[in-house]
Amino acid sequence: MIAKTEGARAPAPAPAAPLPADASPADRVQWLRAELERHSYQYYVLDTPTIPDADYDALFSELQALETEHPDLLTDDSPTQRVGGAPLAAFDTVRHRVPMLSLNNGFEDEDVAGFDRRCAQGLGKTAVAAPAADLFSEPEASPADSSSSTVEYSCELKFDGLAMSLRYEDGKLVQAATRGDGETGEDVTANVRTIKAIPLKLRGKAPAVLEVRGEVFMYRADFDKLNARQAEAGEKTFVNPRNAAAGSLRQLDPRITAKRPLSFFAYGMGELQGADRPPTHSVMLDGFATLGLPVCDERRVVKGAQGLLSFYRDIGERRDQLPYDIDGVVYKVNAIPEQEQLGFVSRAPRFALAHKFPAQEMTTTVEDIEVQVGRTGAITPVARLAPVFVGGVTVTNATLHNEDEIRRKDVHVGDTVIVRRAGDVIPEVVAVVLERRPADARAFVMPTACPVCGSHIEKLEGEAIARCTGGLICAAQRKQALIHFAQRRAMDVDGLGDKIVEQLVDLGIVRTPADLYKLGVAKLAALDRMADKSATNLVEAIEKSRETTLNRFIFALGIRHVGEATAKDLAKHFGKLDNLLAADEAALLEVNDVGPVVAQSIANFLAESHNVEVIEQLRAAGVHWAESEPTARAPLPLAGKTIVLTGTLPTLSREDAKERLEAAGAKVAGSVSKKTDYVVAGAEAGSKLEKAQTLGVPVLDEDGMLKLLADAGAGAGEDTQEG
Ligand code: NAD
Repeated sequence: MIAKTEGARAPAPAPAAPLPADASPADRVQWLRAELERHSYQYYVLDTPTIPDADYDALFSELQALETEHPDLLTDDSPTQRVGGAPLAAFDTVRHRVPMLSLNNGFEDEDVAGFDRRCAQGLGKTAVAAPAADLFSEPEASPADSSSSTVEYSCELKFDGLAMSLRYEDGKLVQAATRGDGETGEDVTANVRTIKAIPLKLRGKAPAVLEVRGEVFMYRADFDKLNARQAEAGEKTFVNPRNAAAGSLRQLDPRITAKRPLSFFAYGMGELQGADRPPTHSVMLDGFATLGLPVCDERRVVKGAQGLLSFYRDIGERRDQLPYDIDGVVYKVNAIPEQEQLGFVSRAPRFALAHKFPAQEMTTTVEDIEVQVGRTGAITPVARLAPVFVGGVTVTNATLHNEDEIRRKDVHVGDTVIVRRAGDVIPEVVAVVLERRPADARAFVMPTACPVCGSHIEKLEGEAIARCTGGLICAAQRKQALIHFAQRRAMDVDGLGDKIVEQLVDLGIVRTPADLYKLGVAKLAALDRMADKSATNLVEAIEKSRETTLNRFIFALGIRHVGEATAKDLAKHFGKLDNLLAADEAALLEVNDVGPVVAQSIANFLAESHNVEVIEQLRAAGVHWAESEPTARAPLPLAGKTIVLTGTLPTLSREDAKERLEAAGAKVAGSVSKKTDYVVAGAEAGSKLEKAQTLGVPVLDEDGMLKLLADAGAGAGEDTQEG
């Protein structure tokens, strides 16, 4: 059967109506349970959470607190008493012989100290009661840590993926199951067999029965590639690697899973037969590695709360460099007999704690969407957000990258969105919480004028980014434009470095390249890091740059897509600046190596009157070059005409005819369409002629063609002399 699991799933229930602020604790508890159930279903069953984990955790903590405060409100079916979500009906179910539990969470240092204290008490040992200020000191420095009466822990990462139980019998993988509700999970054996990191056969001497517990996850790089692939194929992209991993695994068609780059780390054990339990958790992990199972290297055995916190701090510093997402670290009492002694509470072991890192995803609302202009004129839409604390800082803006991205994510002003900030990466909007969209939410409209200089915003064909066309006058692009203008391969103004440009622009002394030619020694010498001598040298360099060549000048203008080579082609083709200024897109297309995108970009630049003004100012300031004659008629008489040749002409060969037409500026095409201007037909013309007649395209014979060329005054490509 080839079906996506989505088909087998009921939609999540609708959100519960918000409660009044003065609701009774009983009502609040009810409301929280309904919301948590709903989000659990979205998360565990549908793999499409609508709120970030931090929001879920906050609701969960609130419910826990209320239940502690009002024990009479606690019921067996409360989400605080349960693990995960129900298994999916579409898969066979698997009853776990050893239940798969959840983990208790800690967020603060005090939670860790409390955990260590409870473990120590339960084991009759000493907790390392370090004063709060001291918690981060090195564990080795503390004499208490070396004592055998302190609790020893195995520290690992908390991988952000999907819990998995792998059953090996006589070393062979016979079953793989999800956690489900902890008691029963889904049989996903066929899918798991496609995960290359998971051995189908264990190495060495394997026990008769070994259930390995671990996490299926996705490396971030693999996740990015998968999402790029999904987007390209027009398919749903995933919010984060965790959802991608869960969604990929719970596919009814294993061939889909096989295409998804899933990985696995082992971290625990279920049933074991035919071997003794290892003495410690860390020995067990080493044993897993020996059997050929992937075990993460980022683990450490420590003693007491100080040791735990030192591990937490170390991993926290390196969290963003890890190649996979983690949402915290996990501490487990290392000695297995001690684990057994401590036992379990309803849904989680007493011997373990998940110490979570500050959330990298939070919800907030989009108050507005504005566009920013970058140094190169790129227009980036930015969401203005209600301030939110995420990834360790307060975020008020998040990039939306470009217009297509806004459409794809369907972000409206007024929406509640999930914002992600990981490491130093610019915060971004990862998804919209559609169910919270207000009635007056507003779709984004890309402005047509640059918010900084008012020039037109262009979006060239095939490009995702829109850009401001006011390259020479736009304040946002000033520095970049000047640095480009002055560079050695452009106007070659020796000594006009980035630092000087920054000062000149920041102090408002220079606004356009033309202002450079008004600079005097006194103004320049007043700048930072400028002495009289260097100021004099710079003025001389500016003076010297007045004499240049047309191709350098064209390149210096910084027109998008006009590099040095294109600038040379343009200079050669047009010979004179005025010819270039007068050229329309069709005329530009005749230039060697200039295609539609480049032609459009140049035409847009020149259509911006401000840009032309600066060019005039530069000429007025004495910037000059030797002009030459154009190498081709500008514009050519048949420019913009598309002509198709067919059949055998009486005197001209096909090649000759083509050459003459092209020399006159026509485009000679291979097939006839409505856009064809003429079909030149000779003897034995076939289907092209018929098509021309059907479409009503004028048909010429050779004489007709020669007349067309003569009327157009085309001397077959001779240079014209212009005064
Ligand atoms: P948990 O994620 O806090 O901890 C238990 C799980 O941790 C295990 O099942 C296992 O999958 C994982 N784990 C990773 N590394 C581990 C390691 N080294 N050792 C042991 N376990 C390891 O608990 P939970 O019960 O799975 O559910 C709560 C989590 O799910 C929370 O993070 C919560 O925010 C999230 N959640 C989010 C939503 C939502 O709507 N956003 C809904 C439900 C649950």
